[in-house]
Amino acid sequence: MGFFSTFFSKPLSTHLTVTSGNGFHLRPVAQFVSIAKKQTCKISASFKGQEIDAKKLNALLSLSLEQGDTFLLSCKGKDAKAALETLKNTFINLMKDDKEIKVVEKEDVHYEGVTIEGEIISSGIAIAPLYCYKEELIHKENSLSFKEALKQSLNELEALYRKRKDNNAEIYLAQKELLASLETEVNGLQELEDYIENASAQLLGSKMEAKISDYKDILQRVKKHLGIEIKVLFPDKAFILLADDLLPSQIETLLETVVNGVILKETSINSHTAILLRGAGIPSLIADSSQLKKESQVILDAHAAVVVTSPSKSDLEKAEKRSEQDKKEKAFASARRFESAQTTKGKQIKVFANVTDENSAKTAKEEGAEGIGLLRTEFLFKEEKPSFALQVAAYERIFENFEDITVRTLDVGGDKALPYINLQKEDNPFLGIRGIRLFKTHPDIMEEQLHAIFVAAKNRPLKIMFPMVSRVEEFTETKEFAQKIAQKHQIDISKILFGIMIEVPSVLFLINDFNKVVDFYSIGTNDLTQYLFAIERTHPTLKTDVLSPVIFDATRMISEHAEKPVSICGELAANKKAIPKLLKLGIETLSVSAKSIAQTKEEIRNV
Ligand code: PEP
Ligand code: MG
Repeated sequence: MGFFSTFFSKPLSTHLTVTSGNGFHLRPVAQFVSIAKKQTCKISASFKGQEIDAKKLNALLSLSLEQGDTFLLSCKGKDAKAALETLKNTFINLMKDDKEIKVVEKEDVHYEGVTIEGEIISSGIAIAPLYCYKEELIHKENSLSFKEALKQSLNELEALYRKRKDNNAEIYLAQKELLASLETEVNGLQELEDYIENASAQLLGSKMEAKISDYKDILQRVKKHLGIEIKVLFPDKAFILLADDLLPSQIETLLETVVNGVILKETSINSHTAILLRGAGIPSLIADSSQLKKESQVILDAHAAVVVTSPSKSDLEKAEKRSEQDKKEKAFASARRFESAQTTKGKQIKVFANVTDENSAKTAKEEGAEGIGLLRTEFLFKEEKPSFALQVAAYERIFENFEDITVRTLDVGGDKALPYINLQKEDNPFLGIRGIRLFKTHPDIMEEQLHAIFVAAKNRPLKIMFPMVSRVEEFTETKEFAQKIAQKHQIDISKILFGIMIEVPSVLFLINDFNKVVDFYSIGTNDLTQYLFAIERTHPTLKTDVLSPVIFDATRMISEHAEKPVSICGELAANKKAIPKLLKLGIETLSVSAKSIAQTKEEIRNV
């Protein structure tokens, strides 16, 4: 497209609705912006008559989009069509993945001492003297210019994001994007301070108030690179920290101390500070600390959401008992997570993990998974098309962790997108080009993926699973395609089994035919449920009953007719109420997320 046609071209637009109960908040906005910035075209978002540059985090955040709000996303210029598609899918996925933080239910406990009620950030019990937050300002010799300090801060945040491999890494990406969006707005430290002061004042009392601590955090980081450092002072004996608020980056420092608990006055349960405290497992409450006296021994009961000052002897005994119980329960579930799970009648059930990459595979191993029941490969390379060598290396690193592994080929389409796989516009993408159908539309990408999996397998036993299969021929043709690739590269795939996900209702009626060709089945209850009820799984208002008898009847049909092993890898496999029913229907392998493994094993042991 030439300059003039690009310049004068009409923008392409789509309406997007915020479906997450948390709204379109800092973390998902940062992820959205980081992908928007990679597009060459102009990208804007309009809401209530305001149009902003959607490549700028601050501008996008200023729209304060909440659940139910619909905004118009427009792309103009080079590659606008592909960019719009990528961003639309990115947005839908971000909304889907943004789980609402649930308020923890308070336990009813009576204490004799004076109690101050609070809100639970992170459950647990702490008994220790109170310690009030103290900091000291250190001035260091420094020769960096403001611009250089900004650059250093951005690099540091990028490095922290890359280093931290858990879900909380996105907090650093969010701070990096936040700082990057200010780069062009301010020219010196004073301007940055003024900007942040104004922005924070505007956020006070709004739903985005929790973002103020991220602003303060990035300011502190820039100042540090200019030689003005705030050092927090902590005692070397056990303590419960009392502070108005903490900056997200201070949690890392706190973890190096003997902190037993934290009481904050001015945060919220979904602030980044709160998320990090929960991730670190530090018993923490939000409570009005003004009545608390420093250095006195208190009980922080973050089950009952109270701080008990001047606790009686019996209060202390009660809290110590509860704390012991916490430790035992944790140790018990944790110790048993590596043991296999048997029902009360002695039937052994395998508990596998659903993973997306090397880190989640490692976490799954630490959490006691016995294998990988579903490797969702579409999440391995979310941003750009990986080279063949990168794919092989990634699969090899995942395969090292377990003997029994099921790899699902790319499951793109519907609610899942990859920016480098362009799919034609469809009125109903959930019923369009998805999963196994990509072998017809994108044979090159699929060939490369299968080839990489075969090479990484190095002749080890492996299961390859095709998603969204609806007809027997689809499976047989794809398996032949796979065999041809192996022949072409002279790779022995005799130890590789081929199976299907059961996600499309037609398969329920074709099981006898599938029995003749597949090696195994895995029921994807997430998609199977949406197709059985014709309700989109990401629909903002329509909901299906995940425990509907229809799903169990479908499982029964499969279990009764299948002549090959059947596992379940949809969310239902980790559902406490569903597990006894699924086991009764003859299911012997459940594949669940890493964090659900210990719990799923305990549920099985109670059946
Ligand atoms: C499913 O559909 O149940 C499933 C496990 O696949 P995904 O959630 O990745 O679509
Ligand atoms: Mg699915």
